[in-house]
Amino acid sequence: MTAPKPRYRKVLLKMSGEVLMGDSLFGIDTETLDRVAKDIKEVVDAGVELCLVVGGGNIFRGVSLAGRGMERASADYMGMLATVMNALALQGALEKAGVDTRVQSAIPMDAVCEPYIRRRALRHLEKGRVVIFAAGLGAPFFTTDTPAALRSAEMGCDALFKGTSVDGVYTADPKKDASARRYESLSYQDVLAQDLKVMDASAIALMRDNQIPIVVFSIREPGNFMKVLTGQGVFTTIN
Ligand code: UDP
Repeated sequence: MTAPKPRYRKVLLKMSGEVLMGDSLFGIDTETLDRVAKDIKEVVDAGVELCLVVGGGNIFRGVSLAGRGMERASADYMGMLATVMNALALQGALEKAGVDTRVQSAIPMDAVCEPYIRRRALRHLEKGRVVIFAAGLGAPFFTTDTPAALRSAEMGCDALFKGTSVDGVYTADPKKDASARRYESLSYQDVLAQDLKVMDASAIALMRDNQIPIVVFSIREPGNFMKVLTGQGVFTTIN
């Protein structure tokens, strides 16, 4: 029997920074990092062109300091720098696993990584390299959801995969409400009209306007990324 084929040819995976914490309360858990790298390698080995956006919530979120009196824009720049740290950590783990990568930052930092250049990123993907987009949009007052949506449109991705700690979108928080049901699929409009907390509204609208499906799945389960990519397992599709 032949292995099931990936449903999409070019994909952006958005992970929140919290995924990298594993069971810790802060920072990066190296075991989790290596496991995530292994899951990503499986997808790259299947011939999928893959780019990544990782958040920074495991290190710093702008709103947290802004809530305690710091100027929001400065706090958000700190948050963007946290995403660069996570991108470098992921790059290290992926290269160790034998995956060729490039980090491109929306805030140029030549000594650390490449600047974001769309055509160069496309070329990296063609060559089978994983491109990790860091520093969000390079602009405050956003989270990493909107840059994930923007880059997936710019790269011409067939789908945006959102890897979270929950295996899809539910009617209520399944950790708090035992009667919560998982949606198989939702329209962009359902998510916006019901204000479902899947991604920021600006990201959902961008995906709707570019007709790019969003697949919400649990990245905490080892091997699940490939499984969901081939249409198996549990997930919610927004399209
Ligand atoms: N951020 C920003 N502009 C962007 C992307 C990120 O200002 O385009 C800042 C913002 O402070 C955000 C932080 O970076 O809270 C970390 O990103 P995010 O909250 O998305 O991390 P996640 O929750 O996904 O781990």
